[in-house]
Amino acid sequence: MNSLQSAHEKISSRQRLNRDEILALYDDNDLLYLAESARQVKELKTGKKIFYTVNRHINLTNVCRANCPLCAFQCRSGDNHAFTLELDDVEKMLLDAAQVEGLSEIHIVSSLHPTKNFSYYVDTVKLVKKFLPNVGINAFTPVEIVNFSDMSGLSVADVLRELIANGVTSLAGGGAEILSDRVREIICPKKCSAAQWLEVMRTAHNLGLRTNASIMYGHIETIEERVDHLIKLRDLQDETGGFVAMMLFPFHPENTELGKRFNLRRVGSWEDLKMLALSRLVLDNFDHFKAFWVMLTLPIAQLALNFGADDLDGTLGEEKIIHAAGAKSSTGITRETLEEIISETGYTPVERDSFYQPI
Ligand code: SF4
Repeated sequence: MNSLQSAHEKISSRQRLNRDEILALYDDNDLLYLAESARQVKELKTGKKIFYTVNRHINLTNVCRANCPLCAFQCRSGDNHAFTLELDDVEKMLLDAAQVEGLSEIHIVSSLHPTKNFSYYVDTVKLVKKFLPNVGINAFTPVEIVNFSDMSGLSVADVLRELIANGVTSLAGGGAEILSDRVREIICPKKCSAAQWLEVMRTAHNLGLRTNASIMYGHIETIEERVDHLIKLRDLQDETGGFVAMMLFPFHPENTELGKRFNLRRVGSWEDLKMLALSRLVLDNFDHFKAFWVMLTLPIAQLALNFGADDLDGTLGEEKIIHAAGAKSSTGITRETLEEIISETGYTPVERDSFYQPI
């Protein structure tokens, strides 16, 4: 039996796929087979429910010392589009967010500001807790956590303890890109290593802080490196069970040095849907997969609900990072629109909190 045949057998008997089988499924390129298989897994996990959340994104700054070639968001202090929110700016945003009916999550991710120290981020979290005491705080990627540790001299565990003590309820899943140091050396050489990313997640999970996970594909990585990335996430989930949801990010090359250097174009919707369905089949120990509409556009995100996704993410408010890289989607959306988009597919919209508890 070849790897493709054994992959098909394992999928029909709900067994775990190995590396060769995953690669064989990728090469086979049978999109509708992957879709149907992933849809079945999704429905076994979460039935006819499709989740969404009412959330707000806060990007504190775009001034960054890392200068990653993959990034269109960063800039240097003094550039004309540089911004850094001070605490009273955050306070104004929170007063505004407090008016949003049913708000359940504030999501905070930012660049690696060269001079803002850890206390600035802790004070931001305290402010969210003060103005929105009942709202979940999904904040900071492992890349930011390693940066806080470097800046403060605290261990990663102590940084996480401090954030938990002040109100962070879950960690953001970004910054994973591709968990290969060969790739990271080219696309984001100053970000934490693959091992550090995984270790921050392991530490967070061991402290009881749940997190999301992600992959960013469609740049200079090989398909083998994508598959190895998924297997690393699956292994860690086996060990800790701490990942809540998986997000897949196609690389947006517009306005990036990486895009120019390698003459990259954004991968097509075929690749987006294939990667989603394949990831759903590989990550058998993850319950939730987001179709992040900002990345995919709303029409493709809707279609993704038949390729293994069970979550359209949220209303957002004002997303900046992905739009800096050329995303053409809107920066926010209403609850009613998300519900309509879900209902059109025959699934049932379910408003959720950060941990997929229905609201
Ligand atoms: S990807 Fe993040 S760390 Fe890298 S330059 Fe952009 S904002 Fe900075």
